[in-house]
Amino acid sequence: MGMDRIAAGTAIIDGKRFAAGLLEDIKLRVERARQKTGKVPGLAVVLVGTDPASAVYVGAKHRQTVAAGMHSFKYELATDTGQAELMALIGRLNVDPDVHGILVQLPLPAHLDAAAVIQEINPDKDVDGFHISNAGRLSTGQPALVPCTPLGCLMLLKDRLGQSLSGLHAVIIGKSNIVGKPMAQLLLAENCTVTIAHSRTRNTPELCRTADILVVAVGRPGLVRGDWIKPGAVVIDVGINRIEVDGKSCIVGDVAFEEAGHAAAITPVPGGVGPMTIACLLSNTLTAFCRLNTISAD
Ligand code: NAP
Repeated sequence: MGMDRIAAGTAIIDGKRFAAGLLEDIKLRVERARQKTGKVPGLAVVLVGTDPASAVYVGAKHRQTVAAGMHSFKYELATDTGQAELMALIGRLNVDPDVHGILVQLPLPAHLDAAAVIQEINPDKDVDGFHISNAGRLSTGQPALVPCTPLGCLMLLKDRLGQSLSGLHAVIIGKSNIVGKPMAQLLLAENCTVTIAHSRTRNTPELCRTADILVVAVGRPGLVRGDWIKPGAVVIDVGINRIEVDGKSCIVGDVAFEEAGHAAAITPVPGGVGPMTIACLLSNTLTAFCRLNTISAD
């Protein structure tokens, strides 16, 4: 995991361990929800086509959903599935009382309109948090289902920095709808001062040097160098990049990890943000179940 590649004194944020604890907590809360309602949360995952990486993600989601005591419904559709057929399936899941969370695994085959499919999902069951209603609710401070990866990043930050992030300067590199933008909204809601950098930003290294919190979600190995990081900053590396080192394939983040020895803490890749994503998906499914059944989530 590269723990030996960084100076002592920098805390390595163990996302794998945090996610395992979160899953245990979810399992207990699922059982309490079952006692209150006689039902358990159900998550429907829709996979279209045969993309090998997507199949691996869907398999992992299925296993962890079952391990948390929830129902898992897997829909594996042929690559040539039409838009109307997929929309009809979403329509059925939207009204299925056993289904509380709906996730359509992305990317979809090119002939399908992914944006239209996402907007078809009942926002109250949109456990990926990608529906326009959830994006709007998040940005206006109303109860929302929040995209899983930034939600996981926020949990790690609060665990590290204490519950109050108020007044800290957070710099986020990347402005995608699934990571950068919702991360910015979450940190604004925590009263951080938020700066978003992206491919056209002119002075990204200087901005980063003023960040108490630096979240990097780009997809470029080693983009963030050591001298971009303010001493004592907390660094969250969302990037997942497959590279070749000495003829061997390995996964690295967007931050030059071994140069970050003056950060207060950093997430490793792998083992940092990655494991939080599925745990947060299950947390969202439990949240959706509790809201749909009007019971408290604890
Ligand atoms: P994305 O949609 O490709 O967005 C990348 C963002 O990075 C864009 O906003 C882009 O700017 C910006 N960017 C590109 N080059 C840059 C540069 N040189 N300097 C500053 N900004 C730059 O990617 P994403 O879906 O957000 O994912 C980002 C990374 O996180 C990927 O490596 C992905 O695999 C990983 N990821 C991990 C998880 C997980 O851990 N579970 C989940 C999701 C994503 P423009 O908008 O200007 O083009």
